[in-house]
Amino acid sequence: MARYVGPVCRLCRREGMKLFLKGERCYGEKCAIERRNVPPGQHGKGRKAKLIGYGLQLREKQRVKRMYGVLERQFRRYFETADRKKGITGEILLQLLESRLDNVVYRLGFATSRAQARQLVRHGHFLVNDRRADVPSYLLRAGDRVVVKPASAKNPAIQYAMEEVKGRGVPEWLELDGAGPSGRLVAVPTREQLGLPVQEQLIVELYSK
Ligand code: SF4
Repeated sequence: MARYVGPVCRLCRREGMKLFLKGERCYGEKCAIERRNVPPGQHGKGRKAKLIGYGLQLREKQRVKRMYGVLERQFRRYFETADRKKGITGEILLQLLESRLDNVVYRLGFATSRAQARQLVRHGHFLVNDRRADVPSYLLRAGDRVVVKPASAKNPAIQYAMEEVKGRGVPEWLELDGAGPSGRLVAVPTREQLGLPVQEQLIVELYSK
């Protein structure tokens, strides 16, 4: 499965915002956005053109795509699925992305970033509803339970992540199980609960041309 393997801080600088792609570093002062928030490249600093129309829509799409670590073809498929469903397309698109297994593993604090969550899922460290789940794009439904496999409970990466994110808590649409390294998707999040600093309507406009 294809994925982006280049420098990730560069992506944040391109989008001019934190995309939280590097785990704990994103919360410290070493974050590239904190230190040098200018677009990448030799002429990055000089690029000050105000975005309008297509440029604005494209940037918004790239921002969301990069945040969730999804490439163009798959992202387009999410849009098409969202478009077919009843409701607000942009909101459904974000809900689909949030329901991905790798995202839920990250949000529950079993990984420090979505990229790490994706790798841990791929390596088969999780069960969904007591069944092995190793597909990062697997879409969870309300009520689905994600458990760290007993054999993986001592995995250093998972333990480190759980320790690091302890104070940060989990979003209200997820629930951590106090008894063990497991959690549940309580409900599909609403747009307000997501609170993402993106304008999904621009993505809908871009793909609806
Ligand atoms: Fe983005 Fe994290 Fe790098 Fe900061 S440290 S620029 S948030 S990937």
